[in-house]
Amino acid sequence: MSALVGSCHCERVRVRMPVASAGIIACHCADCQKLHGNFFALLAAERSAVHWEGEEYIRWYKSSPENERGFCAHCGSRLAKRPLEGTRIMVSAGLFARDLPRRVVKNLWEEQKPAWYDMPRVGPLSPTDFVALALEAPIASASAQYGYAMRSASGNPRPPGVIALTWITASDAPERERIRAHSRENLKDFLAEPGFISIVTGFTGLRGFTVTAWEDQVSMKRALAKHHAVAMKELFGERFVASVWTSVWMPTRINRIWVRCAACGALEDVSDDHASCGACHAPMPERPAFW
Ligand SMILES: [Zn+2]
Ligand SMILES: [Zn+2]
Ligand SMILES: [Zn+2]
Repeated sequence: MSALVGSCHCERVRVRMPVASAGIIACHCADCQKLHGNFFALLAAERSAVHWEGEEYIRWYKSSPENERGFCAHCGSRLAKRPLEGTRIMVSAGLFARDLPRRVVKNLWEEQKPAWYDMPRVGPLSPTDFVALALEAPIASASAQYGYAMRSASGNPRPPGVIALTWITASDAPERERIRAHSRENLKDFLAEPGFISIVTGFTGLRGFTVTAWEDQVSMKRALAKHHAVAMKELFGERFVASVWTSVWMPTRINRIWVRCAACGALEDVSDDHASCGACHAPMPERPAFW
């Protein structure tokens, strides 16, 4: 694609601007709120590189001593902002196709943003952001509460001899952060223990849970004797956490692990770690861990 091509709602005004134009930039200033009814999502370029068709429909309104705003006289679409002095122009992102492959890369005038919307996210969502979002505004329905889950695996392929199931409820958000800080320390100890297999843990609202798999009780007890013992002392010695339950389970039956062969589609019992498909002899991926 050699240019970005857009138009106003009635298509009497058309615009062509370079693919290399900056943006999308979101301006949250008071002027943009009035003029756009929301923030102004824009692409910025040198004025000389932006070409308009139907210019006879464009009206320029002086929105401040320094800037003027262009709109289509027929349909009212807001088209652009340009400084009276200077060579740049800011063109409304809404003029371009809705599948424009871009994200908001910058926010301007955040301090003038009204309270009724959240600032558009800039950059990719990190795991930390993801957890923060899940904890900040928990979603609940009549029958379920949503949150986040995390799995940390050691790579240990052996079958679990014991599984620990726990839940813990924080009294409030700061207590939840204190629990999570302890969990991070515990996880370091777990990963250092050769008999550790993996943990799936998370929070729904103020309730944390863990499902932890171990080769045997000996390895579990060895890992829990480290930081976990410190956390337990705080829990019983101080006013910390609203409620807690722990348990250790032993298997009554461990079933086979089934993996589908990517080549022929056969569902293979891979529990004996065989390297190729029994049906078509294509190589099989490494057997997944039990947990
Ligand atoms: Zn128009
Ligand atoms: Zn603005
Ligand atoms: Zn196969």
